[in-house]
Amino acid sequence: MSAKPRYIILLGPPASGKGTQAARLREILGLPHVASGDLFRENLKNETPLGRRAKEYMDRGELVPDDVTIAMVMERLSQPDCAGGALLDGFPRTIAQAQALDRALAERGQQVGAVPYIAVPDDVLVERVSGRRLCRLCGASYHVRFNPPQQPGRCDHDGGKLYQRDDDLPETVRTRLQVYWEQTSPLIDYYRQQGVLVTVNGDQSIDAVTTDLREALGRP
Ligand code: ADP
Ligand code: AMP
Ligand code: ZN
Repeated sequence: MSAKPRYIILLGPPASGKGTQAARLREILGLPHVASGDLFRENLKNETPLGRRAKEYMDRGELVPDDVTIAMVMERLSQPDCAGGALLDGFPRTIAQAQALDRALAERGQQVGAVPYIAVPDDVLVERVSGRRLCRLCGASYHVRFNPPQQPGRCDHDGGKLYQRDDDLPETVRTRLQVYWEQTSPLIDYYRQQGVLVTVNGDQSIDAVTTDLREALGRP
């Protein structure tokens, strides 16, 4: 990889596999994984004021307001490990967030390098959400059928207990998908116009998606 900083955004609907792929790409690309949902869940776990504020939106499947979200992610991106680039997952989710990110990167003489869009049909997403399980300790994402852990209910990496997200309930998922199509999908055109969008078929095996993402990012 060139020495140029690289900011890569994994774009895609809820449960399209952004977190799963980011965990793999992080190793391949040597970039930190910055997931806004993970940052909110970390705040929830630690019962911070930000976590308490975010919870009401997350429980309803709505987006946390832009000002709060942008401040949280920018603070993370200003940490030294993100100086050479980052793998963004779940952020930006609105045009205002994308513009704020563009501005912040421009101030550092940087820009968004690539935006892989992981395309998955809605009916597949609903099935993925219903079987998703996360590790309490490291946040790793599993699926009871499609990506089961070696030992039921336990994380392969650290033995952490697996749990189901409160917002992975069928009613909330419907809202999240609606929110995605209304507020986040305009980013597909936003980044297409910037010439950085590359569409990847997310409706295939986890390994096949990783292969396509590597190719899309010039790291076959
Ligand atoms: P996101 O971060 O986009 O919300 P996740 O990476 O958590 O999505 O994936 C959602 C669920 O789908 C998880 O249970 C994960 O194990 C599963 N999953 C991810 N990619 C695939 C795939 N290509 N095929 C089948 N299941 C997948
Ligand atoms: P995720 O883990 O990406 O599925 O995010 C879980 C929840 O956190 C979302 O449903 C939102 O309520 C909130 N969230 C995560 N990222 C953002 C964002 N970029 N903008 C607003 N809300 C977000
Ligand atoms: Zn774990």
